[in-house]
Amino acid sequence: MEHIKSLIRNIPDFPKPGIQFKDVTTLFQDRWGLKKCLDLFEEKYRYQPIDKVAGVDSRGFIVGAALADRLGCGFVTIRKKGKLPWETISESYDLEYGTDDLEVHVDSIQKGERILLIDDLLATGGTLSAAVRLIERLEGEIIGISCVIELAGLKGQEKLGDYPFHSLVSYDEM
Ligand code: AMP
Repeated sequence: MEHIKSLIRNIPDFPKPGIQFKDVTTLFQDRWGLKKCLDLFEEKYRYQPIDKVAGVDSRGFIVGAALADRLGCGFVTIRKKGKLPWETISESYDLEYGTDDLEVHVDSIQKGERILLIDDLLATGGTLSAAVRLIERLEGEIIGISCVIELAGLKGQEKLGDYPFHSLVSYDEM
């Protein structure tokens, strides 16, 4: 995991003072880095029945879609407000730096479908908990939630209820 960490660029005070921004572009642009992340997620989930991977706008799409392909699943896009063209449901959430809404197409998940939820990073948990509420409203069954990075000091996992959570690398700092 230290090799994965070494490929994540830390940008202090972005997008505002006090935030340590974990830049995954440097991890994903590395041939080994992207493959390693996908290998680890695939290893964890390959023997679990999963109907769809749901990825959160926008960095959750990168690993989420690639992982869906590896697992032989469909992919659901959970997007920021106003991006999806069909009928949606929406949930508000607080960011570490601001507020926003997440939306999903009403017909993207069928009742009882087994869903793996993916994002790049868990900070306060506001974003992923909104994504969880969207999937619950569509009556999908969340079998797991995974991120590349967890900022464990922010205790975001507490907002995710009892769903199994997993991250590839964790930082204690806020
Ligand atoms: P949160 O809702 O606080 O868990 O924030 C998670 C979302 O915000 C993820 O989609 C991240 O992409 C982004 N994010 C929040 N904090 C950071 C950070 N320190 N570095 C990089 N991305 C972040």
